[in-house]
Amino acid sequence: MIDLHTHSTASDGTLSPAELVAKASEAGVTTLALTDHDCVAGIAEARLAAAKCNINLIPGIELSVMWSGRSLHLLGLDVDASNSALTHALQKVLDFRRWRAEEIARKLEATGVVDALDGARAKAGTDLIGRSHFARYLVEQGHAKDFRQVFKRYMVKGKPGHVGGEWMSLEAGINLIHQSGGLAVLAHPARYNLSRTKLRGLFKELKALGANGIEVVSGSHSKDENQIMAQHALDFEFPASQGSDYHGPENTWVQLGRLPPMHYRCTPIWEAGLKLS
Ligand code: AMP
Ligand code: MN
Ligand code: MN
Ligand code: MN
Repeated sequence: MIDLHTHSTASDGTLSPAELVAKASEAGVTTLALTDHDCVAGIAEARLAAAKCNINLIPGIELSVMWSGRSLHLLGLDVDASNSALTHALQKVLDFRRWRAEEIARKLEATGVVDALDGARAKAGTDLIGRSHFARYLVEQGHAKDFRQVFKRYMVKGKPGHVGGEWMSLEAGINLIHQSGGLAVLAHPARYNLSRTKLRGLFKELKALGANGIEVVSGSHSKDENQIMAQHALDFEFPASQGSDYHGPENTWVQLGRLPPMHYRCTPIWEAGLKLS
């Protein structure tokens, strides 16, 4: 059972890296990639935990990048977490996130939310603050009934708690992942609200930039979206990745390792460059 997209408390997941690995092991996962947002701080702990329960841990990351004026997520699989270009770039992202969190908090407070920055900080527990941490605080404070509603009302473009990203370019992200020895894979391609034409333009560009694959089967895709992405992967001759995008047990509809089967004609990325030791 292979799950190549998961989050821990090092970014916006709710399980610590060790808890995540233990839960994956219980679920029967044999290969697990930890892919925290813009962060590799959880990998050392995850690796130790994985060694104890015989899980093959793939050190990974989910980089926030910009393409055509919007933000996309790029998975780096099997990166060297100690690579200096990577750690340097991630420090800059962390600085941007700190500034962005202050801006988000300022805008939320203008709409009547109290102590937004401290609230989000407490949810994050680390320096890496994201929209999910604000969202959890807002739900707790009764500003929305659940996670879905809080994003819709506050955290997306045009809403009071949204501050646009100024992430690195897609090209810089791919190069950074390659520099740190990893494979660059577009995460959950169906989640960007791109028209078919625009999406195919993106795949073409990814191909030209040397990306290594696309996530075909995702916990954030519907079954139909998995099939559509499988067809794109075949058309563009991209190896296919799969991952739950697990953020913790609160999202009961996403389980570690539990994914619909990949289209039989796709080439899984672990047969096309990703080493499973
Ligand atoms: P950030 O990297 O700070 O912009 O936060 C992005 C994260 O917020 C994503 O990785 C998801 O975990 C979460 N997220 C984004 N959009 C939504 C949404 N519409 N509903 C629920 N969670 C979302
Ligand atoms: Mn997330
Ligand atoms: Mn993502
Ligand atoms: Mn993710």
